[in-house]
Amino acid sequence: METTYFPTDGPAAPYPVQHRLTSLVQRKRANGKRSGAWIKPLRRLAVNLRDGFRCTWCERDLHGAHPRHVQLDHLTPKIEGGSHDASNLVTACINCNSRRQDMPWREWAKLFPGSVRRVENRRRRSLARYIRLARALRAPETTSTAGS
Ligand SMILES: [Zn+2]
Repeated sequence: METTYFPTDGPAAPYPVQHRLTSLVQRKRANGKRSGAWIKPLRRLAVNLRDGFRCTWCERDLHGAHPRHVQLDHLTPKIEGGSHDASNLVTACINCNSRRQDMPWREWAKLFPGSVRRVENRRRRSLARYIRLARALRAPETTSTAGS
């Protein structure tokens, strides 16, 4: 259980507090209507593989993260008509995804040096090969020769 320090006064909370508050609110909101149904698990995995299981923004390594903390961020937000196409999706950690909310991604990217190039590189890659890889990773072992 992490301790959250609430600001006593002042218009803006210092960054870490603001950060924690925002993710707290997000988590609460998400609890009720949490759903990954908008994307198939295979496609989700393929995008994560394409992005090397690293947060596009802060570059956090997400290989060991809880699956719920490995999220997909819509570059153009859904409420602005952003699609679920892979070119509109990047892997993001739960913190970055929660904090960004609907901020234009190029604006948000200014906080993370090199992230514009990462986004461009990632969205340019064809998802097809990562779909194949995802499928292979998820397939049951059929060619096993040695006993297990
Ligand atoms: Zn991040």
